[in-house]
Amino acid sequence: MIYEELRCFVIGDRLETIKLYSLPKLRYGYKDLEPNISEEQLTIHHDKHHLAYVNGANAILEKMEKARKDDIDLDVKSTLKELSFHVGGHYLHSMFWENLAPAGEGGGAPGGYLGDEIGREFGGFNRFKKEFSQAANSVEGSGWAALAYCRQTKRPLIMQIEKHNVNVYPDFRILLVLDVWEHAYYLDYKNLRPKFVEAFWSIVNWKAVSKRFDEAMRAEL
Ligand code: MN
Repeated sequence: MIYEELRCFVIGDRLETIKLYSLPKLRYGYKDLEPNISEEQLTIHHDKHHLAYVNGANAILEKMEKARKDDIDLDVKSTLKELSFHVGGHYLHSMFWENLAPAGEGGGAPGGYLGDEIGREFGGFNRFKKEFSQAANSVEGSGWAALAYCRQTKRPLIMQIEKHNVNVYPDFRILLVLDVWEHAYYLDYKNLRPKFVEAFWSIVNWKAVSKRFDEAMRAEL
């Protein structure tokens, strides 16, 4: 339950407990992804940008909670859009930190079922790497590249995510994500997104991605 914490607060004379989001701790040090991602870049990305999504999501949940208690109408369309933006950002960042590992521990190619499936679907790991990099380099504006798993065809598929909540295939399980918002790489690579995408391959934590893939397949059995 790294995504949620319990928070208690008083409404009227009742003590209410609701679940809110919280910033997950990194499983490595802020310097550990250097030289691919610098300490300064990782610190600002995790401590400032990711935290902003956590706080944003919680603020909207609290606003909705209060509106329900007071029976006040909200602009549901804009509220839900804002909520999905912050929750999507929080979930994707949580997965992004998890699917990275210091070079040496990360990088290379995946083994296990995931390695087999990527080989079968893309005709080899290098072809997959090329397509995923092309997806990351060509996302319009701010967004993400992701590897996902289709529950119906049982096939892996690459998708582009614009911002945090557009173009996502519903009900696919996302396995691997790459943040290509400028805030993810600008301190280190300026406007050279492809350099950041190339460096990403040195720090992919394939063990974590494979674990996610194995869990997705088991859940479908
Ligand atoms: Mn980001």
